[in-house]
Parts: sequence; C-alpha cells; structure tokens
Amino acid sequence: MAIELSVVVPLYNEEDNVRLMFERIDEALQPFAGRYEIIFVDDGSRDRTFEVASEIAANTPYLRVITFRRNYGQTPAMAAGIDNAVGELIVTMDGDLQNDPSDIPFMVEKLRAGDGEGNRYDIVVGWRHNRQDKLVTRKIPSMIANRLIGKVTGVPIKDNGCSLKVYRAEVMQKMPFYNEMHRFIPALLSLGGARVAEVKVKHHARQFGESKYGLSRIYKVLFDLLTMKTILSLITHPVRWFLRLALIPSLLTLISLIFVVSGVASGETIVVSATHAVLFLNLTLFLVSLGFISELIYNKSPLDLGEVAPLTARLDLYSGNTEIDEP
Ligand code: UDP
Ligand code: MG
Repeated sequence: MAIELSVVVPLYNEEDNVRLMFERIDEALQPFAGRYEIIFVDDGSRDRTFEVASEIAANTPYLRVITFRRNYGQTPAMAAGIDNAVGELIVTMDGDLQNDPSDIPFMVEKLRAGDGEGNRYDIVVGWRHNRQDKLVTRKIPSMIANRLIGKVTGVPIKDNGCSLKVYRAEVMQKMPFYNEMHRFIPALLSLGGARVAEVKVKHHARQFGESKYGLSRIYKVLFDLLTMKTILSLITHPVRWFLRLALIPSLLTLISLIFVVSGVASGETIVVSATHAVLFLNLTLFLVSLGFISELIYNKSPLDLGEVAPLTARLDLYSGNTEIDEP
C-alpha cells in the first residue's frame, strides 16, 4: 500500500523522549494505520538516543532511523529525513514532545480539504498560539523574527519557527536547507506559488532533556534572513543588482574621459586614460547586458514549482489563502 504520511523527527540528545515520542505518534496516527512511516534522524547525539530509536525500530518495520556521526543541526537533520521520506505528505515536528502528534490528523485533513473553493493547500503550518517557552529568550525574539520574515518575503506567517508542519512532498524538492533555514521554507514556497494554511496547534513545555538553543540562534536566524533577502532580490530583480554594480565602472569611464578631454593629462597619459575609458565602458556594457539576461532567465522560472502563476501574481497567493482554524 502507498505510504501517505512520512513523519520526520530530528533528535539530538533526546534519550528520555524517544520512546514516548514514538508511542504518541503511533497512537495519533491510528487513522492512518499501515499507511505511514516514521523517520527518526539522530543528529549525532551523545546520549542513548540512537540506541533507543534502534531498539524500537528493530520491532517496527515502519520506523526508520537515520544517524549522523556528528551534530549538524536541526535543519540538516530534517533535510536528511525529508530526502529519505517516501510518503505523499511529509510531517515535520520536534522530538521533545513540545509539539503534539495528536494535531497531525487535523492538519492533514486541512491540507487535503483545501480552502473549500477548489484550491488545494500545499503546506499547513502550525501556530503555537499558546507557546510554552520563555518570554524574553524565546517568544520575543520569535515575534521579531516573524515580523522580519513577513516583511522580507511579503508572506505574513504567524509562527515560522513552529516545527510542526505538513507538506506535500513534491513542493519540497527545490528547497535550500541549511543553518536555521527550516523556518523560512513556508514563506519561500509560498513565493514559489505554494498555497499555505496556518492552523492553531497545541504546545507543551519541555518535560525531559534540555533545549539545544541559546541566544546565538538569534544571530543565525538574522544571518539566514539577510542571505534570503539577498537571494530573493537577486532572483526577483537581478537587473537592479547589475545596474548598481555597473555604476562603478561607469564612474571610472567618466573619470578617464575627464582626463582625456580636460587637458589635465598630456602625451602618453592621454593614451592611457583613453584606453581606460574604453575598458571601463566595456565593463559597464557587459554588466548591464548580464543584468538584462539574468532578468530574462530568472523571471521565467524563479523558485518555480510548476503549474503556478507568473511571479508578479505570486506575492498575492498567500494572503488569499490564510485561515486560522481550531482543531
Ligand atoms: N535538534 C537537532 N539538532 C540540534 C538541535 C536540536 O536535531 O542540533 C532537535 C531537538 O532534538 C528537537 C528539535 O530539534 O527535537 C528542537 O530542538 P529544541 O527542543 O532544543 O528547540 P526549542 O524547542 O528549545 O526551540
Ligand atoms: Mg523544544
């Protein structure tokens, strides 16, 4: 039978959560019995996470365990799980029971039902409206990050950082996964034409083990945001970048020309200045042409997911499809 759901869970030093996590997922997914798989990705844990996961997997054919030799981080762990998933839908979630597997069936239902007007959803994002984390080190930085991500991408998702998400597998294929990138994926996919819905999900305080993050994550998120902003503007308006770059050689052309015609230079210096003028002019023309060519190439298929509207229309896609539902 075809696998409908692949649940991907990154785990780093979660030995006390693994078994409980497995049981909760298993219980929650009974409606999908025989049609789901679970992928635990051990991100180079130094405790018994891998051993416990392997013990369960030994008696559970639909549980697969991937293990890294060292700690790469939550996003790369997620990416490895997604790469190995065979389900039509991919569910990502944290492995510390802060996300609640009992939200999964509702999210899947939401994704499949679409917006009721015949438009299907490609991603359903969880919104931890009752988030059980520290205010100053977690909730406030997240609030700022969510605002910034919304500004940069034009996609106003309330809780980008919530790991509990359901995706159609095919929309994930082109996504970049590095650093803290997992949180930008719905917004990026939405820009590529994916339809995103947000639903309220439960959130619990961590009971076992410790959070793996300190304040340094804030820098990483900001860094990724900057990278993403650059990439996005390069993709959407490459010609602007090349024109800005071309300002430098065009200025140098002008300076060289001033030397040639003003009489400041004489004899051999005039020849040198004239040569420079031609050289810089060439460089300017080269950059400008490159800008226009990039414009043609990128705006034909930026982040393209197939069967979607042209870029100008894409920015509107999200707003029309936001729905906040209670499970
Ligand atoms: N995680 C991981 N690799 C890491 C850090 C975290 O796989 O380097 C996993 C971790 O085991 C958990 C999830 O990512 O399943 C979220 O981590 P955590 O609970 O520490 O984050 P928080 O909830 O504090 O934001
Ligand atoms: Mg956690």
